[in-house]
Parts: sequence; structure tokens; C-alpha cells
Amino acid sequence: MNKEELKKIKQKALEEHIPIIMDDTLEVIEKEIKNNPPRRILEIGTAVGYSAMCFSEFLLENGKIDTIERDAERIKEAKINIKKVGVEEKINIYEGDAVDILPTLNEKYDMVFIDAAKGKYPFFLNQSLRMINPDGLIFADNVLYKGYVMSDYNKHKQRTAVRNLREYIKQVSENPNLETQILEVGDGLAISRIK
Ligand code: SAH
Ligand code: MG
Repeated sequence: MNKEELKKIKQKALEEHIPIIMDDTLEVIEKEIKNNPPRRILEIGTAVGYSAMCFSEFLLENGKIDTIERDAERIKEAKINIKKVGVEEKINIYEGDAVDILPTLNEKYDMVFIDAAKGKYPFFLNQSLRMINPDGLIFADNVLYKGYVMSDYNKHKQRTAVRNLREYIKQVSENPNLETQILEVGDGLAISRIK
């Protein structure tokens, strides 16, 4: 992979306020999967491809990533970026709304990264649970959403997102088949291991 290109893409995304994965979040994920690298990764929310390209370094040989994005402009940019970095063999983009695409997928994944519409996290969780392998990991980014999720503040215009993020945390915490940690890293990261 062309790491210089990846750095440039990261810089440009930050300048354009595209919410790419934070360095400390990426580090935590890398540590979690180091001992048992994934062969198949599902990502919900590609943006310009930054996190998917980072994850492509963590894959087992011949491993692949499926990533879903609905914004046409971002898809276009992600494709260009992925070519520039030279990881097009490893990343497949599904173009469209994850709410429509997920139910059509019937793959098995070792890792899922949820990083799209916060109001849909419980739905994304149920779809991920349907496709995740035993011992697999489901990561969900932004689950603490600037602190709104753990405060009693619920008059914010983002209250639907907050309600659904709370519901996500409740579901992963109460599911007896999952072992879940909620970390304050980045904007909040939920890590759920399938028992
Ligand atoms: N994972 C990326 C950042 C994703 S930002 C990275 O770390 O580099 C979230 C993205 O999810 C946005 O580009 C947005 O367009 C997309 N998105 C939000 N809701 C979606 C949905 N329901 N289906 C598909 N994509 C969605
Ligand atoms: Mg995020």
C-alpha cells in the first residue's frame, strides 16, 4: 500500500471535516484484532475510504472488506482514493443505503465496523449479528456522541440519534451472547465479542 497517499487522503479528509476514524480508535481496534486477524470485514459507512484502507492492513492474506456507502460524491472519491493507495483488490464498495443493502447480504464476517447513521445503530446491530462469525468482533464508532449519550440532555436536535445509540448500548450490554466494552476513546467505541 502507498502510505504517503494514505496520509494525504487523511489530511484532506480532516480539512474537509469528513468524520474519519480517529487515530486512537484505530489503535484500539488494531490491538483487539492483532492476535486473531480477520479474513472478512464488513464496514457500514465508507465515506472516502480512509478507515477501510487502514483496516486492509489488518487483514489475513487474501482477506477482503465489504464497505457500504450511500453518498454518490463520497463513493466517487473513495474509489479514486482506493486506487491511488493500491488496495482495490481488497475493498469492495456496496453503493446505496445500508438499510436496503444489509438485508440482501448473506456473507459471514469476522469483524464489523459500524460507522454510519446513528439513528440506525440498533438495525445495523441486528444485521451484523446475523452475519458475524463466532469469536468475531462488532465495533461501533461514535456511541458516546460528544457526551450526549451518557448525559440526561435529551432536548437536543439529535435526540433520535441519542435514543438509538442508548438502545444500541443497552442491546449489546444485555445480549448474553456478547461480551461488550464501551470505551471513551475517540467519540466512544463499543466493542462486542461474540462468545
Ligand atoms: N468509516 C469512515 C467514516 C464514515 S462517516 C472512516 O472512518 O473513514 C459516515 C458515512 O456513513 C458518511 O459518508 C455517510 O454518507 C454514510 N452513511 C450514513 N448513513 C448511511 C446509510 N444508512 N447507508 C449508507 N451509508 C451511510
Ligand atoms: Mg466515526
